[in-house]
Amino acid sequence: MADPNILSTAKPAFDVDRIRREFPVLSQTINGKPVVYLDNAATTQKPRRVSERVFRFDTEEYGTVRRGAYRLCERSTQLYEEARKKVAAFMGTPDSSEIIFTSGTTQSINLVAYSFGKRFIQPGDEVIISNIEHHANTVPWQVVCEDRKAVLKVIPVNDRGELILEEYDKLLSGKTRIVAVNHVSNALGTVNPVKEIVRKARAAGARVLIDGAQSTPHIKLDVKDLDCDFYTFSGHKMYGPSGIGGLYARKEMLEAMPPYVTGGDMIRQVTLEKTTYAPPPMKFEAGTPPISQVIGLGEAIDYLNEIGMDKIAEYEHSLLEYGTQLLENIEGLRIIGTAREKASILSFHLDAVHPHDVVTLLDQEGIAIRGGHHCAQPTMIRFNVPATARASVSFYNKYEELDLLADSIRKIIKMFS
Ligand code: PMP
Repeated sequence: MADPNILSTAKPAFDVDRIRREFPVLSQTINGKPVVYLDNAATTQKPRRVSERVFRFDTEEYGTVRRGAYRLCERSTQLYEEARKKVAAFMGTPDSSEIIFTSGTTQSINLVAYSFGKRFIQPGDEVIISNIEHHANTVPWQVVCEDRKAVLKVIPVNDRGELILEEYDKLLSGKTRIVAVNHVSNALGTVNPVKEIVRKARAAGARVLIDGAQSTPHIKLDVKDLDCDFYTFSGHKMYGPSGIGGLYARKEMLEAMPPYVTGGDMIRQVTLEKTTYAPPPMKFEAGTPPISQVIGLGEAIDYLNEIGMDKIAEYEHSLLEYGTQLLENIEGLRIIGTAREKASILSFHLDAVHPHDVVTLLDQEGIAIRGGHHCAQPTMIRFNVPATARASVSFYNKYEELDLLADSIRKIIKMFS
């Protein structure tokens, strides 16, 4: 077991046992051992109430949205729009028409890259991303730059995995149309100084998209205070259903941008000669949306609000500090990503064992973590590793689970030495 004398983490009061009772999956065993779920950056488990809410909606309240004048449709539409209001309040905008439902962060970024690119990016213009982006915030910009004959610029990072802001300053110019960076890096856990990044971009006349896939479950948000133009999220990483997520976008941008997907529900009028579009958010929600998933997402947001994002952040930060101290004390282990501001993620590399072997051997102990490039190959190249093993915590994790992780890693290192 870990030597408690080396650990100096303050442990805030948090009733994790009560929380865990909401998540039946966490009381299962794997290989006869209690499951230790530490892959929360990939996807989070769902509390029972989210699935129960979806079940009740599907079996008692279900109807299509926005199309009919009968009761089930009206009720369904009302619940759907209430969920949008919950998301809007959670993100920090009073105007729910600034929230577009999508299938998640990937689709949200593709929507902005395509639609913003088509309207605002001209040959010779520049787009800025960083060296620690998920492929979802890299590839769409490569495609749009190729398409629009624009230039993609990249903010480098230091050895801790922090963006080098002096280099960012040098990249920004009157040619910059948009800056797209994550709030929290999924590969390293770095929390980027997004407020400063936005302020500088706006001073240069550029727009800003923040990839919030990894921040929305961990950090209290206020998009209006951030002053960004776009902010994305994924429901399955915030205790909600998969297949649903969204995009906050400043109203003026949604009004100026052309639609991304076209068809039913996004129109004002269609004749065979010409189509006019519905106002946002419908302009960007063509077709029948994932209605039940939206209702589930609304329930997940109620759940997060009831626990309190400040409390969640405080407890998870303490877990992260505790885990960091444990791993720092393991010989032959290198933590990849040692930014001064971090959230949730512990990426590491063992001198003697490939990350895929680490993950497979930990699985035999019932411990679920991720090994690979985490859809961030440019980040792996920057840190000169083919892949990392990554443990990522949630507020339903316990300090004891991190002890178990550290002890199991020690055993693996011993086995390979
Ligand atoms: N950006 C980041 C930072 C992520 O961590 C992820 C998911 N791993 C994505 C984008 C893509 O999210 P999704 O798969 O939910 O679309």
